[in-house]
Amino acid sequence: MDFLPLFFDVKKAATLVVGSGDSAARKAELLLKAGAHVKLCASDPVVALQRLVDNDKLSFIETPFDAELLDNIILVVAATGDSELDSHIASLAKTRNLPVNVVNQAEKSSFIFPSIIDRSPIIAAVSSSGSLPVLTRLLRSRIESTIPQSFGALAKIASGYRKQVRDKFPEINQRRRFWEHHLEGLFAENVFSGHEKESKLLLEASLREDTFEPDGEVYLVGAGPGDPDLLTFKALRLMRQADIVLYDRLVSPAILDLVRSDAERVDVGKERANHTLPQQKINELLVTLAKQGKRVLRLKGGDPFIFGRGGEEIDRLSEESIPFQVVPGITAASGCSSYAGIPLTHRDYSQSVRFITGHLKDDTCNLPWADYVQEHQTLVFYMGLVGLQIICTQLIANGMSSEMPIALISKGTTKDQKVVVGTLRSMPELVKIEQVKAPTLIIIGEVVNLRQKLRWMD
Ligand code: SAH
Repeated sequence: MDFLPLFFDVKKAATLVVGSGDSAARKAELLLKAGAHVKLCASDPVVALQRLVDNDKLSFIETPFDAELLDNIILVVAATGDSELDSHIASLAKTRNLPVNVVNQAEKSSFIFPSIIDRSPIIAAVSSSGSLPVLTRLLRSRIESTIPQSFGALAKIASGYRKQVRDKFPEINQRRRFWEHHLEGLFAENVFSGHEKESKLLLEASLREDTFEPDGEVYLVGAGPGDPDLLTFKALRLMRQADIVLYDRLVSPAILDLVRSDAERVDVGKERANHTLPQQKINELLVTLAKQGKRVLRLKGGDPFIFGRGGEEIDRLSEESIPFQVVPGITAASGCSSYAGIPLTHRDYSQSVRFITGHLKDDTCNLPWADYVQEHQTLVFYMGLVGLQIICTQLIANGMSSEMPIALISKGTTKDQKVVVGTLRSMPELVKIEQVKAPTLIIIGEVVNLRQKLRWMD
């Protein structure tokens, strides 16, 4: 280990920054954020520094650097960019046992600034010990994506209950179980979604209970159309903390791999016409598992509220007063159109877009066809492969041009994505030749031509 990571309290302490450029400005801002007094020794400060001077944020000393400036200082930053001067400042500071940082020169420094993820009071710091700062920044953005913005608020609220929890659970293991449950459960989720009052009430109620019985909850999460990179941060976080996952056939294996490894997995997938578990049974299973105190992840392809029966599931959960959250996902129409180079709307070709299901509850395809035949509109059919012939025939019969472009996107956004483009007249035959595989999305409208115009490559 080249450096010892420490968290340094600099509140109200005098620090010195020497330099006039952007690096000096960034360090001065950071020190101010941590509550330090900053003395700035600079000649011609850049705008960002001048702003701090003008707003009286720091004391500005417009003289060349002098050893006396180190008097009564607890920490020094040398950011002049003049290698000789920076080295001189560093060696003077070191003879006085003062911690010194020479910007971007770890070898001349006695301390270096890490990359910071600030969710105060929670702070995470990452460093490459000065070896490759770019790598540190990449790592930082990964960590950023996994820590919700309101993590600091969570820490503040929870710390207010530390004493009460300690009194109630004198035994450390009990205490740990209590905190783990709440910090990864409904208490934390309430804070993250801005419901701080509810979160406090929940914790207080839990502390009034004689014994600690964890509450179950359900996360209804949209997993997007296939590519794991299209998951939301929130989806990923809930996937990492669930105890059990009930997933659909549409959820790709690559996404399932991201679920907490020791979570139990239940496939409730629905092959067309071969419903592995009828919807009602899924609803009941969600209720039963949540009542056992489990954090149940209901993972669905695309978005749970778009042809996803999310509404039916939460209806049942709310009947039983089981807490739940719904996390939107990228729906197949958005994912497939983006990955196939077909903008769903375009000022010249389409001013509206309709999402339609080609598969009705009673297995028929009786749709208001005449309604769909409108100028400058894009139609997107979900579950339309089986009824493709009917869709094309009916649209033509109701006045749509038989030359209207249509695209069929199979396994959209995955590495097996395949796009077949034709017209209403030619598509039913084309599909037979190409042997398209489910899941498939159908896009109809002038916008389909844009794919060719954009010379889109899959
Ligand atoms: N809730 C989902 C839709 C479920 S209905 C969503 O928001 O996307 C299932 C239909 O979605 C499939 O029959 C197919 O038409 C479409 N679909 C889902 N994922 C798809 C994908 N990766 N490629 C093409 N179509 C997809």
